[in-house]
Amino acid sequence: MTIGQNFEEVAARHGNRDALVVRHQDIRWSYAEMNAKADQLAAALVAQGLTKGDRIGIWSPNRYEWVLTQYATAKVGLVLVNINPAYRVSELDYALNKVGCKALILSPQFKTSNYVEMVQSLIPELDKATPGALESARFPALKMLIQLGPEPAPGMLSFDEVMSRADEGRAEAEKLAQTLTPDDPINIQFTSGTTGSPKGATLTHRNILNNGYFIGEYMKLGPEDRLCIPVPLYHCFGMVLGNLACTTHGSAMIYPDEAFEPGAVLKTVQEEKCTALHGVPTMFIAELAHPDFKSFDLSSLRTGIMAGSPCPMEVMKRVVSEMHMSEVTIAYGMTETSPVSFMSTTADPLERRVSTVGRIFPHLEVKAVDGDGNVVPVGQPGELCTRGYSVMKGYWNDEERTAESIDADGFMHTGDLGTIDAEGYCNIVGRVKDMIIRGGENVYPREVEEFLYRHPKIADVQCFGVPDERFGEELCAWVVLKPGETADQEEIRDFCRGQIAHYKIPRYVKFVEAFPMTVTGKAQKFVMREQMTGELG
Ligand code: ATP
Ligand code: MG
Repeated sequence: MTIGQNFEEVAARHGNRDALVVRHQDIRWSYAEMNAKADQLAAALVAQGLTKGDRIGIWSPNRYEWVLTQYATAKVGLVLVNINPAYRVSELDYALNKVGCKALILSPQFKTSNYVEMVQSLIPELDKATPGALESARFPALKMLIQLGPEPAPGMLSFDEVMSRADEGRAEAEKLAQTLTPDDPINIQFTSGTTGSPKGATLTHRNILNNGYFIGEYMKLGPEDRLCIPVPLYHCFGMVLGNLACTTHGSAMIYPDEAFEPGAVLKTVQEEKCTALHGVPTMFIAELAHPDFKSFDLSSLRTGIMAGSPCPMEVMKRVVSEMHMSEVTIAYGMTETSPVSFMSTTADPLERRVSTVGRIFPHLEVKAVDGDGNVVPVGQPGELCTRGYSVMKGYWNDEERTAESIDADGFMHTGDLGTIDAEGYCNIVGRVKDMIIRGGENVYPREVEEFLYRHPKIADVQCFGVPDERFGEELCAWVVLKPGETADQEEIRDFCRGQIAHYKIPRYVKFVEAFPMTVTGKAQKFVMREQMTGELG
């Protein structure tokens, strides 16, 4: 089955139910309406000369046009390329050229970034181009830019106008739909860029549709459910854990804002009576720390997923007790595996749900291996390797990197260390790259972070290694204090003394307002490490 076929089937069953609510754009569509709009956009894109296999980029924060584009492209086999809304000119250049996009849909701006100006600076020919028939020396494949809204800049098509010309493409779009197979690529998703420059993972209908379906099953989603989605659509968290989990189950996708803002999320949950809420840990932390947190009625919440980076147990417990999310679970995965590989179900005991990432997902296999590729004993940390339907086709146009990640047996080497206990529950220890070796002792930053979260003044913390002449590496902690609190380095170190092994006590503690972050809300340790190494000289 393809994403389009699945969506049509669900829309036929649940036509009158809410499919999409985008509050900042005042959009409220039922499944029947959304299906009709997706058909319209699919035909409209075909009318512009786009066809199966063509790459089409989307560069926009969370908006209804994004959701529509996801389903419209899937219906006719266009390959959607998710472009990070935080990109600047050079990264956009890389993303467009790397995958040879034929079209780019773009929002006019996002926050303080003027996308139109950035595109104009990259494509000098744009000003004088006939909209839809661009000739660019720098981007030979790129033929059209489609600007969201009604009044496009010179040389660009308007999204609204393109939509209005759908009828010219309807017959061809229907023909294309007949030719699709589940193994056609449908998406090039860039990874978060937490450890360096993002990589484009090629994913198929089979990859992400199945993953979305099982996520929805594990959450027990149904047509009554309303999922609040504050995570970016540009990332698999929004597209798969958000949208596909909902649309495979007739649930409503509720978007609070263009980008994450804790107050908007809390207000949306209350006013839309959301039953579920997703987020990376930093989002839940910010919601819990909102000054008016206690004034919101969150009693409609039941479930949701925390994922994307290590999920502190203290935060999970507060989400259960203070946000009414008694069925919340942690999920673990990566863009390259569509993304979820591990998740708890509500049948798992609460203690397991808040402290592990659950067990391997249906129809997938996992092994944890040491540096030589040998399976490690039960309970020992090893690199997680996963195999099954969810493993990407490969990194787009990058056979070398693909071969480094997916071995001859089909296992994806995740770069993450995990322990798996005798019952199959997995604990993520951290990234192989982030492990600190201090004086010959392995230190897993996650463990130190979990301990420091217990400090009453600490709101958020990140630990990483910095080079040290004597010990090879030393531990450094960056700390965000709770509002109004002050502390000094020694106070934090004192808190650790006698509680954790001496070599795990951060040698350096720095207090910061915020961490360097990816758009997906992940702290970039490599940026902190570079900065701190510079400061320490
Ligand atoms: P890049 O690969 O570009 O450096 P990234 O790995 O953060 O960035 P994603 O594919 O968005 O890109 O994220 C997958 C990674 O996120 C995993 O490999 C893992 O390190 C981390 N992760 C995801 N879920 C969890 C979780 N529940 N607990 C701990 N870490 C997690
Ligand atoms: Mg990664």
